[in-house]
Amino acid sequence: MPTAVSPAKVAKFGGTSVATAAQLRKVQAIIDADPARRFIVPSAPGKADSKDTKVTDLLYLTQQLAAQGQPLGPVWDGIATRFTGIVADLGLDLDLRPVLAEVKARIEGGANADYAASRGEAIHGRVLAALLGADYVDAAEVVLFDRAGRLDPRTYQLIAARCAGPGRYVIPGFYGRDPHGEIKTFSRGGSDVTGAIVANALGVALYENWTDVSGVLMTDPRVVAEAKPIVEITYRELRELSYMGASVLHEEAVFPVREKGIPINIRNTNLPADPGTMIVAERDPGHQVVVGIAGTKGFTVVHLEKALMNAEVGFGRRVLDVFERLGISYEHTPTGIDTMSVVVADKQLGNRLDEVLEDLQAALKPDSLKVTARMALIATVGQGMNHAVGTAARLFSALAKARVNVRMIDQGSSEQNIIVGVEEADLATAIRAIYNEFA
Ligand code: ASP
Repeated sequence: MPTAVSPAKVAKFGGTSVATAAQLRKVQAIIDADPARRFIVPSAPGKADSKDTKVTDLLYLTQQLAAQGQPLGPVWDGIATRFTGIVADLGLDLDLRPVLAEVKARIEGGANADYAASRGEAIHGRVLAALLGADYVDAAEVVLFDRAGRLDPRTYQLIAARCAGPGRYVIPGFYGRDPHGEIKTFSRGGSDVTGAIVANALGVALYENWTDVSGVLMTDPRVVAEAKPIVEITYRELRELSYMGASVLHEEAVFPVREKGIPINIRNTNLPADPGTMIVAERDPGHQVVVGIAGTKGFTVVHLEKALMNAEVGFGRRVLDVFERLGISYEHTPTGIDTMSVVVADKQLGNRLDEVLEDLQAALKPDSLKVTARMALIATVGQGMNHAVGTAARLFSALAKARVNVRMIDQGSSEQNIIVGVEEADLATAIRAIYNEFA
């Protein structure tokens, strides 16, 4: 009789999860606890404590030293002893000296920054493979970038073919190779992306992303200390929250798994019994109308008013044209009958506000043109909002009770999101008020 095989899982471990030998022991226990965890994607060793430096940062530094013709000196020694120390602490029969010597020589010989940075994952992958008795797969063999720097779709077949056996595989995160055979990395935090690509290639049941928090929190714990983890959130809701500054996963990590409907489970390596957050394609919005609240400072709003604006064909386009000509991208454009506002991130605006105003004045001849600076935007995100009658009322009465003056409102057309603009000084109070209403 065939025995039931549990569907395979990808387990990606972030930098803090693999920072020390003690952390790697936790990883080992997690992998051993579930035979489905067969595809393991590690980051390079991250910070062991708050004063520590990530190995990836040290590797970038060695490349810069080499480029300036300076010796790699203690920076390299720190990296090398970090790895050899972990191997010794784990009691592994693994001699890293030849690999370390080769990497050092190549960096000294002028290897590019991507090569240097990627070696944290490449070397640590070998350590983890030895610890877990897994097959080590060099990501440069299976993760390919095309000439434009995008993922080459052949990657998926290569991973599937290379990892076809019944055992465990360790595939280091963060890098692959370009069409010239050179090592190329994703952007920072890119091991999340590798994990998602591996999950897609192997059609696994679950992509576990192990980190140092018990899931995505409903809001920033620096603002609401007791912020609860989100039990379940859709890919789309997560995207809305991340866009507003909640940083959880690498931005590009959602797409490969979403394509196959593979859920992502954010888990805590230090508290493995915690269920963490499930990121799914669909959820039942009945349980939780609002899943999360994210806010950021640093926006300016330009308000235009003109009588009979609504009858003037092309008004909105000409307003946005001004921003486009100046190469400034905008965030939101709430409109009224005779009013239109454009919300711009200060980072985008730089010191060009006067230019924007002059051009708007010349192009639109508005009756009034006003600016509100130092605005914060808060996104209250939840898929069920459009069906749950009274959500907006609850949101605004919570803000009113907290005496927060709402300066702007924008409901995203997805109806998954209500964005309010408040003065920067009110940001924390406003987030707390919304959290207490919906958590
Ligand atoms: N080690 C890389 C970084 O620090 C990639 C990763 O950890 O995901 O960005």
